[in-house]
Amino acid sequence: MNAMRRFLNWMTLSGQQPEILQAQFRELRRQVPLLYALLVVNAGAVSFTHYGLAPDYLTIWLLLPLFLICTVRAIVWLRRPGDAVTPEEALYQLRKTLFLSGVLALAYVAWSLALDSYGGPLERGHVALFIAITVVGCIFCLINLPQAALLVMALVTGPYIAYYSRLDLTVFHAISMNIFLVSLVLIQVLFNGHKAFTKVIQSQRALAQKQQETERLSEENAILAHTDALTGLPNRRHFFATLQKRIQEAAATHGSFAVGVLDLDRFKPVNDTYGHHFGDLLLAEAGDRLKGLASSGTRFQISRLGGDEFGMIIEAPANELEALGQSICDIIATPYEIEGIFVRIGCSCGLAVFPDAGRTVHELFDRSDYALYNSKTGRRGQATLYSVEHERQIRSDRAIESALQGADLEEEFEVYLQPILDLQQGGVTGFEALARWNSPLLGQVSPDQFIPQAERSGLMRRLTITLFAKALAAMSQLPAHLSLSFNLSAHDITSKETVLTLLTLLGRSRIQPGRLMFEITETAVMRSYEGAEQSMRLLRQTGARLALDDFGTGYSSLGYLHRLPIDRVKIDKSFVSGIDDPSGHGIVSSIIALCRSMSLDCVVEGIETDAQRDRLKSLGCRYIQGYLIARPMPAKDAAAWLEHTDYHQSAAAAGMVSLPVN
Ligand code: C2E
Ligand code: CA
Ligand code: CA
Repeated sequence: MNAMRRFLNWMTLSGQQPEILQAQFRELRRQVPLLYALLVVNAGAVSFTHYGLAPDYLTIWLLLPLFLICTVRAIVWLRRPGDAVTPEEALYQLRKTLFLSGVLALAYVAWSLALDSYGGPLERGHVALFIAITVVGCIFCLINLPQAALLVMALVTGPYIAYYSRLDLTVFHAISMNIFLVSLVLIQVLFNGHKAFTKVIQSQRALAQKQQETERLSEENAILAHTDALTGLPNRRHFFATLQKRIQEAAATHGSFAVGVLDLDRFKPVNDTYGHHFGDLLLAEAGDRLKGLASSGTRFQISRLGGDEFGMIIEAPANELEALGQSICDIIATPYEIEGIFVRIGCSCGLAVFPDAGRTVHELFDRSDYALYNSKTGRRGQATLYSVEHERQIRSDRAIESALQGADLEEEFEVYLQPILDLQQGGVTGFEALARWNSPLLGQVSPDQFIPQAERSGLMRRLTITLFAKALAAMSQLPAHLSLSFNLSAHDITSKETVLTLLTLLGRSRIQPGRLMFEITETAVMRSYEGAEQSMRLLRQTGARLALDDFGTGYSSLGYLHRLPIDRVKIDKSFVSGIDDPSGHGIVSSIIALCRSMSLDCVVEGIETDAQRDRLKSLGCRYIQGYLIARPMPAKDAAAWLEHTDYHQSAAAAGMVSLPVN
């Protein structure tokens, strides 16, 4: 029963795999028209040999509709598109073919057996031959639809054998048996062939599936390789690849777009304070905010470049860019609540427009980074658009850099000295050495310009050593009770090698280390806290003293006051200009009070007017420095200046306290 059901299922093509149905259909498309041609030619030949012997309705009128059907079907098959057929359509067509094969087989066999009663032995032999070669031909043409081949074979050889077994002619018995056996063999051959065909199709399908799987995996890998694991945003690699593509598009269409770089402010201290896990959560949250923004419109794509830095490709008119960048900074600056802790970080942004700012990935990224640097150093928490002014600045930086590379340090550099006044004792307590560069190519260049360049181009060490030697030489010309302050850069303070060389130079001179004060800015300390602290301890061990310079311009100053081995704080000159308004006044007076409570010296820089000096004196400030006392002067002039100044030399030396009376 089961076998019967299985056979019926097989015969009706139920449960056949879709891609095999489609493949069968494709193959049949090529064979079936040939099959119809074979039927027409063979039947035409039999009709021809029986013409006149058999009645016309058999040789002509019955055959014509059969021919017509065959021709129409052949044309229908020829015009069928084979490639785009769906499995359902293929199944429908195959079943139709199966049905028609049965109908046509019966029609042809009935027609040929009807003809058999006419004509002599030769004509009857022709009918037998016609049936034999036609059934063999049909089986071959239906090789890809074995169900139809089997049906045709059964419907032809069954009636054929039954018909001839009734006749008393042994030769026809032999022929019919022969045809039956040959058909059986052919059917078996055909089954084998079909099995092989099915296997090929199945393995093709398996191969295609494997290929699809491989493609899917490689797509997944590509996505992973372009995704930042922490934030889920596209990563640095993706950013630069997209930027490259966008540049090519914009260059081809004469379009414009902008590149943005975002950098979180105060992320490092938060990370240091609350730990890396917290830092990661904070970055992920910031990334989510940016993702939300990016998906809210198509105006920009955002990637994490690494650390606390993000890159953007923005499609917006140039006049809207800064506002857009600013709104992004503001969103990042909104406070965060992470694991019950509230924190606030900031975000600065640099923007550069293609093609004005640059035409290559490298140029555009560098320019937006330069704009970011400007935000970071002057406009923290804000967005800066790279401008013509920046371009000029870069050119001047480059000119400085190249002049610096070729400079004769010994010849072109000099130290100037600026006195520091002790308000309590009314005398000069020492000088600060300030570098001066007189470049034969560029003229006078300010240290604010060449120090950062020397740091960037790796010249700082050589320059510091040259300047220090000159400062020591200048000092040896000054009275022995006066101190000398010497500025160290971020690079100097983190380079143990530089510090050791300075100490060697100091050791070789006859100058007491106690007369030296090294000035270090907070920003330099922050660049690498551990390295800076080590160097500072090393310097202090020799008896030299340390000052924290530009105090108040950084943002974590108070912490450093406690942790670092410092003797003096220098309040930045930017606070002095605001000393007359209540908030400026409040800051300066509280720093002075703080220094007093910590037993630290306090120097206020940038004193230009008597009023400022008096105000500071009333606040209890002891040391001041500024144009009011003297502008920085060539070292060789310092001794003469000391002779003639109204400010007496340090009270310790002069033994008296006096200030000029104005
Ligand atoms: P700084 O260490 O804060 O030096 C004080 C700066 O303020 C000097 O500028 C000085 O000329 C200026 N100044 C002094 N009094 C007044 C005043 O009353 N009003 C105004 N407006 N300015 C005043 P300078 O010489 O241009 O130096 C700029 C900066 O360059 C220095 O700031 C220091 O950070 C750096 N620098 C100078 N020489 C050296 C050096 O030999 N090595 C290192 N690493 N840095 C140096
Ligand atoms: Ca200084
Ligand atoms: Ca300073």
